[in-house]
Amino acid sequence: MVHPALKDIIGKMAKAARIADRKPSDIALIAVSKTRSGDEIRPLLAAGHRVFGENRVQEAADKWPALKADHPDLELHMIGQLQSNKAGEAVALFDYIHSLDRPSLIKALAKEMDRQDRHIPCFVQVNIGEESQKGGCDIAATPALLAQAREAGINVAGLMAVPPDSANPVPYFALLAKLARDQDLAGLSMGMSGDYESAIKLGATHVRVGTALFGPRDTPAG
Ligand SMILES: *Cc1c(COP(=O)(O)O)cnc(C)c1O
Repeated sequence: MVHPALKDIIGKMAKAARIADRKPSDIALIAVSKTRSGDEIRPLLAAGHRVFGENRVQEAADKWPALKADHPDLELHMIGQLQSNKAGEAVALFDYIHSLDRPSLIKALAKEMDRQDRHIPCFVQVNIGEESQKGGCDIAATPALLAQAREAGINVAGLMAVPPDSANPVPYFALLAKLARDQDLAGLSMGMSGDYESAIKLGATHVRVGTALFGPRDTPAG
């Protein structure tokens, strides 16, 4: 079944990739389904999409097991701030975590990954705009946090960031790409509904798109 918004975004992603001399297959589209019901998600599943992102463990735990029963090939990404006491649930439910941002969370996740024998890849989230209210580790602290994560046995896939709301995201994408390059990391989780094409031109391997796929959210979601 064709999903017009999905088709449109996949087309724009492929075009951005070609402009950047990259392969479209090297960029994953994470459909950000926070606040969306199963009924809103099913048309994307029917269109063949399998990669989704959520920002709250509890909401994901309520919603996804039922959908997973019909689609065992789903890939679920945790893109929101994660409390250490939810690490066990997150490791069991998600296939990737994009919000590894502090030593206490490294400890909690490493312990749960060992306990569950489930070593899921993680992105280290960087507070790229140095905003006090946002998650993510400080830019200067990123190399040390990466070293700590690797030492704990965590598979670090790359870096993730959410640039400041009303700023031009391009310099922030470029900075995150440079940080990843300097650390020999292949993964770059950046770009949302308004800016995924620029993010792809600057090297994004994972774009996180919600409203462009589902329409505006009526419930605020942090
Ligand atoms: C909600 C959210 C997105 C998607 O945002 P849209 O503007 O709806 O595309 C991407 N990343 C994170 C971390 C989010 O919380």
